[in-house]
Amino acid sequence: MKLSCGPRISVLAWWPAAWHRGPTTILGIYAQNCPEWILTEQAAYCYSMVLVPLYDTLGPDACAFIIKQAEINVVVCEDDAKCNLMLEKSPRCLKKLIVFKDIRVSTKQKAKNMGVEIVKLSDIEALGAKKIHPEVPPKPSDLATICYTSGTTGNPKGVMLTHENIVASMSAVMLQFGDHRLTKTDTMISFLPLAHMLERCCENAVYCVGGSVGFYLGDIRRLSDDMKALKPTITPAVPRLLNRIYDKVQAEVNGSCVKKMLYNMAVSAKEKELKRKVQEGMGGKLRLMLVGSAPLAENVLTFVRCALGCLVVEGYGQTECTAPISLTIQGDHVPGHVGPPVACCCIKLVDVPEMEYWSKNNQGEVCVKGTNVFQGYYKDPQKTEEVIDDQGWHHTGDIGMWQANGTLKIIDRRKHIFKLSQGEYIVPEKIENVYIRSQYVSQVFVHGESLKSCIIAIVVPDVDVIKCWAQENGIPGTFSVLCNNPEVKQLIMDDMISWGKEAGLKSFEQVKDIYLHPDNFSIQNGLLTPTMKSKRPQLKAYFKPQLDDMYSRLT
Ligand code: AMP
Repeated sequence: MKLSCGPRISVLAWWPAAWHRGPTTILGIYAQNCPEWILTEQAAYCYSMVLVPLYDTLGPDACAFIIKQAEINVVVCEDDAKCNLMLEKSPRCLKKLIVFKDIRVSTKQKAKNMGVEIVKLSDIEALGAKKIHPEVPPKPSDLATICYTSGTTGNPKGVMLTHENIVASMSAVMLQFGDHRLTKTDTMISFLPLAHMLERCCENAVYCVGGSVGFYLGDIRRLSDDMKALKPTITPAVPRLLNRIYDKVQAEVNGSCVKKMLYNMAVSAKEKELKRKVQEGMGGKLRLMLVGSAPLAENVLTFVRCALGCLVVEGYGQTECTAPISLTIQGDHVPGHVGPPVACCCIKLVDVPEMEYWSKNNQGEVCVKGTNVFQGYYKDPQKTEEVIDDQGWHHTGDIGMWQANGTLKIIDRRKHIFKLSQGEYIVPEKIENVYIRSQYVSQVFVHGESLKSCIIAIVVPDVDVIKCWAQENGIPGTFSVLCNNPEVKQLIMDDMISWGKEAGLKSFEQVKDIYLHPDNFSIQNGLLTPTMKSKRPQLKAYFKPQLDDMYSRLT
């Protein structure tokens, strides 16, 4: 399971002499976490090539867009299935796929017909070993990678990161770890996607100090088995993983009153049995866990800290900042904030008048300046200008609030875009525009919370259509009574879901429950703006009891 990269680094020395080597050569990688991924990454760095990770959730259209925009000639591709996905919409510039697992003859033929050559990684390595080309080390200002973020609408955006960006962010985090910094005796488990900068920075930091990394076998449900085999000392983590562990323990103890009592005692007293159970499920040797990438509930963080009995730090960050922006410090066990800024950047909070966040109240949009801030979106100066101002501050779109002890708390999002707890982005307006097509729906307000894994909605049904349907089906009652009728609710929800399916909403973009409200949202009752747009904060406050009730029944 351990990886050693050194002797195989010449892998890209085969690069045809006529092809350019250096910071304008972009190489794609499309694979699960594995040693070959790292080998490709390190080899690309040795020759100053720029790495572009591709990943499943992008889908074939976005992958094709990326290959075309970045003019990628060569993609290192894991297996037959991924090769076929690459070939599905292959742009003309794609010339070579380098594979490291077996592929079918038919795939090879298909590729050939499309003018794409498929080569085995082992053959490339043999070529590289025959003729060693001198390395072409990058300058700090050279691009190291372009990370395409799938975003919510439109084409993916390519976040350009330099070697300086990556080294700055890794070094700043190491500095903040203090006595807990990584050493060569550390072992890390690699299971979070390498296409995400959190995982890449963590792994690169381990390689820098000479530590080891073991790769999970690819099935997240068997992660615990992989961890027991590897016994990692450090791991990055994301809230959805910790939520799963928390829910599992809760479900077990909720079955019995005695167990529940024991559990409560255990959390407060960090009782041994609980600790053994969760720690041993992760191999028993964890000394440091870095969690980040989405909001984490305070109770889950406290539970994990008690149950693991090791240092658990929470980071807040963004791909545009090469991962970290702030990080909690060792010794601070109080949850509810994301720590102070890391050493490579400054943070300022800027007024957001339309949401009534003011810097004089220590609230505002989180803006970041420093050596970890990206160089812009690839070939998209307009989008770059929208987020990096002329003084070099990157506007994250997150709303923060300074705490009295100098730490930052993330309290909102500037745009009506948010991440659910499993890390997926939701654009409520887009979903509302789909549901409004249902004949039964007159108005709809889609709501979600970053600590929840699903979305819900308040629906004002169409009076005439519902009354007509009720009459035809012999269901008596006023409109208000009909709004409380479970059959009416099911009818409307089923129709909304089928419209959602037709419009291609992903399953996490579909509502999991609705509440029927008989009165329209209006300008008069303060729920619509003069231009008839939903006043989201007001709708959320107005329907708080109904929203809370729905969520309490869903979890
Ligand atoms: P990405 O660029 O995909 O890593 O997503 C970055 C976004 O994730 C940020 O702009 C935040 O909205 C959210 N995020 C990341 N870490 C945290 C955190 N610790 N707490 C709250 N939100 C977070």
